[in-house]
Amino acid sequence: MSDKIHEFGFDTLQIHAGSRPDPATGARQTPIYQTTAYVFRDAEHAAALFNLQEVGYIYSRLTNPTVAVLQERIATLEGGSGAVCCSSGHAAQIMALFPLMSPGRNVVVSTRLYGGSVTQFSQTIKRFGWSAKFVDIDDTDAVKAAIDDDTRAIFCESIANPGGHIADIDTLAKIADDAGLPLIVDNTSATPYLCRPIEHGATLVVHSMTKFLTGNGTVTGGCVVDSGTFDWSASDKFPSLSEPEPAYHGLKFHETFGPLAFTFHGIAIGLRDLGMTLNPQAAHYTLMGIETLSLRMQKHVENAETVASWLENHDAVEAVTYAGLKSSPSYDRVAKICPKGAGGLFTVALKGGYEACVKLVDNLELFSHVANLGDTRSLVIHSASTTHRQLTPEQQTAAGAAPNVVRISIGIEDADDIIADLDQALKKASS
Ligand SMILES: *Cc1c(COP(=O)(O)O)cnc(C)c1O
Repeated sequence: MSDKIHEFGFDTLQIHAGSRPDPATGARQTPIYQTTAYVFRDAEHAAALFNLQEVGYIYSRLTNPTVAVLQERIATLEGGSGAVCCSSGHAAQIMALFPLMSPGRNVVVSTRLYGGSVTQFSQTIKRFGWSAKFVDIDDTDAVKAAIDDDTRAIFCESIANPGGHIADIDTLAKIADDAGLPLIVDNTSATPYLCRPIEHGATLVVHSMTKFLTGNGTVTGGCVVDSGTFDWSASDKFPSLSEPEPAYHGLKFHETFGPLAFTFHGIAIGLRDLGMTLNPQAAHYTLMGIETLSLRMQKHVENAETVASWLENHDAVEAVTYAGLKSSPSYDRVAKICPKGAGGLFTVALKGGYEACVKLVDNLELFSHVANLGDTRSLVIHSASTTHRQLTPEQQTAAGAAPNVVRISIGIEDADDIIADLDQALKKASS
């Protein structure tokens, strides 16, 4: 079905894209190819595979048939040319930047990011000689001003974790384009069901598959999707993709693989040498999750809208950041960026401040107090004392995780039950 795949709708593609009955057994569900290596037909076949002259399976650090189905499925759902899966969302961010960066280069990133990403970008990437410049991405002048000769990408989240801020991806893509740079969008909170960043001009999309894509809190995984549209050879800024690669006898990835250059580089260099590989068992769980992605996201959105409206009118609540509420500064962007809804993640600021937040978290019963989101279960966390703990108070506030705020990931339980739990816990938190 691969050559007519574009005719199918999202609900069909989330089940079928990339998968076909197993050629060896006819198994309808994608088998978990629990194997490390693959037998070569002969020495010539092995040599062709190692030279990247023929595409096939060598060793599961690079490629695995179960993982390959997942890669094709996500690439299709995002409207990209290819995708590389890896072991976590954070691995995906390194895998996305790795071909673009080198010592002395920088990436312009949004201040509104998942706390772990703020730490990864502000601290850890320095060890590679890379740096990040944090800017308010709604301030287009600031974004433009932050770009210099050493900038190699712009990075933002479509719907930001935890505050629910929605990025104006079209405007950022235009700025990136004018500067000859790729725009990387972390689409974890939105998923391709709610937002397709490539349609808004993004070059690369990264995911923590740990969250909504898998959807039930079972495995960690990440993914980098390439739009296939960026001209890596237009400038001398991206030599890893445009210049001869010594490790492959001078092969030029962009010239040789065209729209698949980034994907092939991610496998042949990124996974080969960084080794942040996704295992086939994890790929299986994520494939199972994606089969019901649209149904789950509809229910996450429906519940989030109901619960956020209820919370907004509660006496103990100071503010709710859900972009699906008219009071949100991002509300106007929902129709343009994520027309099927603003997701299932938001923050709630309590009038009782830090103390009330901690009491709320401790008294919730249906909600689980965990450092995760995008589960079928409703989840809660006090970001300032956990996921965003490493950040300065200024960074916490800029990221939407001030001390008086709890992050809520609305599950797909009955909305009445979610509200009842919040109601009893808020009473205790404000007494
Ligand atoms: C969780 C998360 C990440 C990191 O993903 P892991 O799978 O935990 O490594 C990155 N970005 C966002 C928006 C996230 O929510």
